[in-house]
Amino acid sequence: MSRINLDNSEELMIGNEKFVLFLSEEEIQNRVKQLGEQITKEYEDKVPVFIGLLNGSFLFMADLIKHIALDCEIDFMRLSSYGDAKISSGKVTMVKDLNCNITGRDVIVVEDIVDTGLSISYIEKLMEHHNPSSVKIASLLLKPDSLKYDVKIDYIGFKIPDKFVVGYGLDYAQKFRNLRSIYVLSENGVL
Ligand code: 5GP
Repeated sequence: MSRINLDNSEELMIGNEKFVLFLSEEEIQNRVKQLGEQITKEYEDKVPVFIGLLNGSFLFMADLIKHIALDCEIDFMRLSSYGDAKISSGKVTMVKDLNCNITGRDVIVVEDIVDTGLSISYIEKLMEHHNPSSVKIASLLLKPDSLKYDVKIDYIGFKIPDKFVVGYGLDYAQKFRNLRSIYVLSENGVL
């Protein structure tokens, strides 16, 4: 068993790798609240369906919908991309499909981070087959310099540099999703 510090500690060692605090719990919560309020205004007369992409978006999704002051529904999908802990393999498959019918519905896909855009472009194509009334994408994080696919992210929490981050749903080899803040891998002590 190993203990981890859930508070906003400035540094986190994972094996020999040093991560430093990048977005504090407070910064994240403030931004998620703003996004929730913006979505509430823009969907005033609608009943949106939020579709979270597991596993990474589970905390963002939970916090976001607490700021949606509207009738709304939620569902989850899970994609799988094969690769090592830090590099995506470029292949995506679906391992958990939707349970609800989104035909004619206003869908908001909720993602933790958009890196190359592969996952979101895959999801957008899948959505088209279901004929929703509208589809928008909300991502807590976006790495603009890593984008390789032509995707439009409608609600962006934070634009971040092309660095590996963990915490607040984002994993390192499936661990550290439970951190309340987001940490960035510090290469040779440089961000
Ligand atoms: P994309 O399909 O846009 O290339 O990658 C999206 C997925 O890659 C995210 O849902 C996430 O699972 C993973 N990913 C991309 N960048 C990072 C990162 O910096 N940290 C973590 N933990 N996962 C990442």
